[in-house]
Amino acid sequence: MIVCKFGGTSVASAEQIQKVANIVKSNPARKIVAVSAPGKRSSDDIKVTDLLIDLSNAALNNDDIERKLQKVVTRYQAIADGLALDYAICDVIAVDLRERLQGDKSNEELFIDNLKASGEDNNAKLIAAYFNSIDMPARYVSPKEGLVVNDLPERTFALPEAYSNLAPLKDTKEIIVFPGFFGYTKAGILRTFDRGGSDITGSILAAAVEAELYENFTDVDCVFSANPKVVNDPVEIKEITYREMRELSYAGFSVFHDEALMPVYKIGVPVNIKNTNNPSAPGTRIVPNRPATGRPVTGISADSGFSTLYVSKYLMNREVGFGRKLLQILEDENISYEHTPSGLDDISVIMRSNQLTVENEARILARVKNELSADDVQMRHGFSMIVIVGEGMRNNTGLAARAATAISKTGANIEMINQGSSEVSLVFGVLQEFENQILQALYGEFFAHVQA
Ligand code: ASP
Repeated sequence: MIVCKFGGTSVASAEQIQKVANIVKSNPARKIVAVSAPGKRSSDDIKVTDLLIDLSNAALNNDDIERKLQKVVTRYQAIADGLALDYAICDVIAVDLRERLQGDKSNEELFIDNLKASGEDNNAKLIAAYFNSIDMPARYVSPKEGLVVNDLPERTFALPEAYSNLAPLKDTKEIIVFPGFFGYTKAGILRTFDRGGSDITGSILAAAVEAELYENFTDVDCVFSANPKVVNDPVEIKEITYREMRELSYAGFSVFHDEALMPVYKIGVPVNIKNTNNPSAPGTRIVPNRPATGRPVTGISADSGFSTLYVSKYLMNREVGFGRKLLQILEDENISYEHTPSGLDDISVIMRSNQLTVENEARILARVKNELSADDVQMRHGFSMIVIVGEGMRNNTGLAARAATAISKTGANIEMINQGSSEVSLVFGVLQEFENQILQALYGEFFAHVQA
């Protein structure tokens, strides 16, 4: 059995959904289909999820919601029209949205989640109806039938029982159309995953039914070894390990959600990233292990929006518990960190800047200074992380030197270097303004002689 997931652009219009039907029909093993909400039809279009967020915010602010609600319904109407489906389906969608808008507003996050999730939920119902209308027996299945997630305040993830609950889907006779992006807590409260989270739903389903393959259909032919918007004609990645993909998607490879790897990784279901608009292209396969290619570096990614908390204190290395106390201060502010490079008397904690506010930053600085008696404490912003990734790096010497030399030629200062113990990645912290230049320089260094 194959589980496939179709992303927003793959289900954005009637024409796209027809392509989805053809893809599903062409292989009888494709029995479970997870779908996103209708995404962008062109670069200046708006995703239905964003229309829904706008709608829910208007409802929370007691603003007029009619025009915003109509915008959403119109998107489904255009799809139903193009697929020759009964318009009654759009009335059902309008009623559903009104019901959600009447929902409990006491917790704004949950209210927004409930509206946001309707994008995938209604699209799944519509796509199942379309499949049935063209003689592809299909059934909409709600995440209520087993995709149990944790409670607030933690970020949403599937509980272990979700997998056993969903396992019986493997015996399905019809094609199952399952909405991506959300699940229900044990108490029946709807919660969404992070943005782009339909990838996660597909992965949970693939793991639950122990699929032979998880196909993730998007709008590009493959994963590239570097961002094609920055590097000219980068090499296509044909095969990549879970670990490599994890490292790359951490920093800017948005083609596949980084949290989506975990469920399939645990039981070793391979993933194939494919293009709905060009389904015969082989795509990129994400696998547990792959044969060595002779090339140490598989991909280079870069992501901006990092801040560094720099702390120095004489004899820090002798002080038992210093690191724990420092990280406790961040935990108290509900902040996660990415890297902690350290010296004898200083340590830097690198985190995503979007977790910081003027208020929590001031509290952190004051507490580190007072409670840890630090000599110097600074929060610095505007950093990028450049990540060089490759299973083959472990067996190669001199890679860090080559990378550092390439970076130095751009004139940028390396603010931080971090090599994980697995040696599958090498991370450089640099000032944001050098990011693109460095990416190009590193690509030239490690891929210049490779045929694109
Ligand atoms: N529709 C959601 C989003 O735009 C989830 C997804 O498409 O994966 O983030």
